[in-house]
Amino acid sequence: MLRRKLMSALLLYVFLFPMLAFGQAAAPAPYQAPKEVIDKIKEEGSKNSQVMQTLSYLTDVIGARLTGSPQMKRSNEWTRDTMAKWGMKNARLEAWGPFGRGWTLKDFEAEVVAPYNIPLIAYPKAWSPSTKGAVTADVVYFDAKTDTDFEKYKGQLKNKIVLVSNPRELKADFTGMGSRRTDEELAKLANAPDPSTAPRNDAGVSPERLKMFMDRLVQSAKRMNFLLQEGAAVMVDNSFNGSGGTIFVSGASVAQEVPKSIEEAFGGKRLSPQQKEAEAKMIPQMTMATEHYNRLVRMIQQGEKLKMTVDIQAEYNDDDPMAYNTIAEIPGTDPNLKAEIVMLGGHMDSWHAGTGATDNAAGVAVAMEAARIIQALGLKPRRTIRVALWSGEEQGLFGSLNYVKQHFGEMKGGGGFFGGNTGGQKPELIKGVDYDKLSAYYNLDNGTGKIRGVYLQGNSAVAPIFRAWLEPFKDMGATTLTLSNTGGTDHLSYDRIGLPGFQFIQDEIEYDARTHHSNQDVFDRIQADDMKQAAMIMAAFVYQTAMMDGKIPRKEMK
Ligand SMILES: [Zn+2]
Repeated sequence: MLRRKLMSALLLYVFLFPMLAFGQAAAPAPYQAPKEVIDKIKEEGSKNSQVMQTLSYLTDVIGARLTGSPQMKRSNEWTRDTMAKWGMKNARLEAWGPFGRGWTLKDFEAEVVAPYNIPLIAYPKAWSPSTKGAVTADVVYFDAKTDTDFEKYKGQLKNKIVLVSNPRELKADFTGMGSRRTDEELAKLANAPDPSTAPRNDAGVSPERLKMFMDRLVQSAKRMNFLLQEGAAVMVDNSFNGSGGTIFVSGASVAQEVPKSIEEAFGGKRLSPQQKEAEAKMIPQMTMATEHYNRLVRMIQQGEKLKMTVDIQAEYNDDDPMAYNTIAEIPGTDPNLKAEIVMLGGHMDSWHAGTGATDNAAGVAVAMEAARIIQALGLKPRRTIRVALWSGEEQGLFGSLNYVKQHFGEMKGGGGFFGGNTGGQKPELIKGVDYDKLSAYYNLDNGTGKIRGVYLQGNSAVAPIFRAWLEPFKDMGATTLTLSNTGGTDHLSYDRIGLPGFQFIQDEIEYDARTHHSNQDVFDRIQADDMKQAAMIMAAFVYQTAMMDGKIPRKEMK
């Protein structure tokens, strides 16, 4: 799942460049599979489950899967071969791009060496350039908020290791990190209004927030430019969340041109760290555990002179600028319907400090398991079932957006967050070859938590269908339908062109508190029973979508 900070930016963009409006289509009679079929799905999904085996291979053996990296490619190939081995057809990789370069960490070391040795918990940021060998240098706390503050540091940062964040106060954890959705929360979701009835062009972003957001962008652009010009050796920031050894780490910061307007801030000019041209606009950078970061700041404020040794050795993977989604199918068997498609999936790419277990090997393992259950039971779906495992999600849903563009269509004009923006013009749908063949896409990307229901994305016509499909899973906690939208992940690529794309409602478990983009996003944070439950429900939804007479109703485009 993408980070919320970025999502609020995307929300802003949608707010500035409104998308199509949707109404409702008439609902067909709900279809329901015979009880024996659902019982068999439950049995296969509990007694013969492969979901944790799949997860272990992806996380423990292959490891982190940064888009463009050799490990990402290995996971593409391994999932393709595994689904082919299970008897699925047309297992293949589909290219999209160019994405940019990959990044592989070769060696890393970070410690305080004077006044005495302090080992540190820290991780390089993805796409950080390498240091020139192991760098031993003075540590400077860059405590600058305004342009006048910046002046004080002129000439002070050359070849220094620079701490750039504020210290962050930590509180004792009295409540515990793990949680499941309460009945109250679920009731609130169930009673949420239809998002299409909300006032248009109002994403709830006040002018004050817009200004705050813009100021932050300007400030961070100025800071990066200053550090680059002054020749700092290494930039160190404080993990923005987590404690007790948990560090949240994502991509490196690039020195951007200072934006003059919000349009410019989101325009095509922004460099991403995976672009080759960005390399000259970055300095080596890493994120440190908060307890260690805070201590170093306090020591400096007490007048101590610190020296650190930092060695970041990373390799850019430039041989193939394209990225790949893994695709595999269970072919449909009804001569009249087999050309139609039901899709399921989640993104396989991850950040690099953990092994991307909850974000999102979990969704990948569940989607693969759902397909395996249908395949193993020898069920004969009428429509073709297609698994898609995306890449480039963490950089902006790129894998699914490109796939949808190649197969199903795109929105021209009117903008959105992925190019083609002509500013305020009425958007137009350009249908792709398979636009009318897709029934629905089901996504899983909210961590390890079991399924509690479905976000309907304002599509009230599907409610009676999904209500009937949840019924046999009531005793497993999946009961809630909400008209609400949810964001941050790949179902949006479908939803934005009017195709039914759904993300399930999942229990939180430790997602925001511990695992989402952290070094603790690893196999041991996964809850096996939750994964099995999710795979059974996904299998049942996908199978029944493939069996009904008609397609899943679409939101009517107004
Ligand atoms: Zn994510």
